[in-house]
Amino acid sequence: MGYNISVSEFLESRDIDYGDFVAYVNAETRRLNSKLFFFQSVCELKTVEQNGKLSGLPVSVKDCICTKGIQSSAGSAILEGYKPPFDATVVSAIKNEGSQILGKTNQDEFGFGTFSVNSGYGVPKNPLDPERTCGGSSGGAGGITAAATFPHIALAESTGGSISCPASFCGVVGLTPTYGLVSRYGLIDYANSLDKIGPMGKTVDDVALMLSIIAGYDEMDSTSLPEKQKHYSTEGGIKGMVIGVPKEYFENVDEQVSKSVWNTIKKMESAGASYVEISLPSTKYALSAYYIIATAEASTNLARYCGLRYGLHSELKEGQSFNEYYAKTRSAGFGEEAKRRIILGTFARMSGYRDQYYMKALKVRTLVINEFKKAFKKCDLLAAPTMPITAPKFSDIQKLTPLENYQMDVLTVPPNLAGIPMLSVPCSSGKLPVGMHLMADYLQEERLLKAGKVVEAVK
Ligand code: GLN
Repeated sequence: MGYNISVSEFLESRDIDYGDFVAYVNAETRRLNSKLFFFQSVCELKTVEQNGKLSGLPVSVKDCICTKGIQSSAGSAILEGYKPPFDATVVSAIKNEGSQILGKTNQDEFGFGTFSVNSGYGVPKNPLDPERTCGGSSGGAGGITAAATFPHIALAESTGGSISCPASFCGVVGLTPTYGLVSRYGLIDYANSLDKIGPMGKTVDDVALMLSIIAGYDEMDSTSLPEKQKHYSTEGGIKGMVIGVPKEYFENVDEQVSKSVWNTIKKMESAGASYVEISLPSTKYALSAYYIIATAEASTNLARYCGLRYGLHSELKEGQSFNEYYAKTRSAGFGEEAKRRIILGTFARMSGYRDQYYMKALKVRTLVINEFKKAFKKCDLLAAPTMPITAPKFSDIQKLTPLENYQMDVLTVPPNLAGIPMLSVPCSSGKLPVGMHLMADYLQEERLLKAGKVVEAVK
C-alpha cells in the first residue's frame, strides 16, 4: 500500500495501520537514501504510536540540531561519533506532540555552503534531477521533503538562507522565522546572531503546523523572544495587502526565474493584493557584511572542536604538545570550507583590522535593518526571487570560485542579516522549480503564511 497523502490527511485519518505505515516509511527512506544521500543517519521508526498534534508523523531533523543518543555532527567529520546526552528544545517539542525522528538530514559542514557539496558525509542529490544540487546548507532536508512519498515535515536551520535556498531548488516550502522566535537551545552554532531553526514541508499548511509547535519563549535560550506559543493560521487571503517589489532583487537574476516571480505577483494582484516597486539600496553591501559577520562568529564557535570534548579524537602521543594535538585533529576533522572560514573570520576580528572589517560590517547590518523597516511602512510584505537561478548541476558548481559561490546568496542574505521572517514558496511549474521569497516585518509570520497559501493556489 502507498501512503502518498498529505500531512493533514494522515493526522486526521483513523484507519491507517500504523505498523504497515512504519514498515513502508522505513523501507522507502532507506531506498531513497541509498540513491540520493539525504540523511547523515537514518533512524528506524518504531511501531508504537504516540498521541499529540503530530501523532505518528515522521519528522526529519537537520544534522546540526541535537538529538539525544543519535549522532549530531552538523555535517562535519570533526563531530563524528558525537551523540548528545540531550534533545534540542525543538526536538523535545516535536516528541511531546507524538512525532518520530526519521533521521538526521545531510548538510554542508556547520551550514557553510549553498549547495550541500561541503558535507563531510557525501552529497545529497536533487530528486528532480540527480545531476543537480538540492541547494544548501539544508540540502538533505529539502531533498527528502520533495522526494518523500509519505507525509513528513523537516526541521532545518538558516544562517544566511539555508532554508530558503533548498526550498527553492527542490520545489518545496521553507519558513525561516523571526530571529529568536524559535529556540536555538541545542542547535550546533554556526553564527549565533544569525542562526534560526525553521520548518520545511510540501505545503504552506505543513510549515504553519510545525511553527505552531516549535515557536515560543524558551528560558534555555538567552536570545529567545518573550512570545507565547500560538496557532498560526494560513487562511484569510491577501485582499488589500500591499506587496513591495524590491527592484535590486531582480538585477542579475536568471530570466526564467524573474519571469515566474513576476507572473505570480500579477496573479496575486488578481487575488486582491496590489504592488508597489520599492528600493533597498544597501542590498549590494549586504553580502560582504554577511560573510564578515558570519565567518567572524563561526571562527570563534569552531574553537571548541579541538579533539578533547566532542566527536573526533586522535591519539595524544608522548612528547606531543597540546597545540600539536589540536592542530592534528582540526586538520583532519575540518573540511576545506570550514578552514577557509576560520581564516577569514579570524582575520576580520584581528586587532588592526577589526574596525576596518568587522565594525564596518555591523554598521552595514544596521543600514540593512533600517531599510527593511522603512520598506514595511509602505508595504505589508516583500516579494522577490528566492535564488537568482534554478538548481545548478554539480559539474557547474565545481567550476565556481569560493567568491562566486558566496555570491549565490545575494538575495537570501539581507533578510537573514535583519532577522525578519521569510517564506520560500514554489511559484513555477516548469521542469525546474523556482522559489518566490516572501519577507515580512518582525513576527509577521502569519501574514507570510496567508500570502504563501495564495501563491500555492494561483501558481
Ligand atoms: N550559504 C550561506 C553560507 O554559507 C548560508 C548558509 C546557512 O544559512 N547556514 O553562509
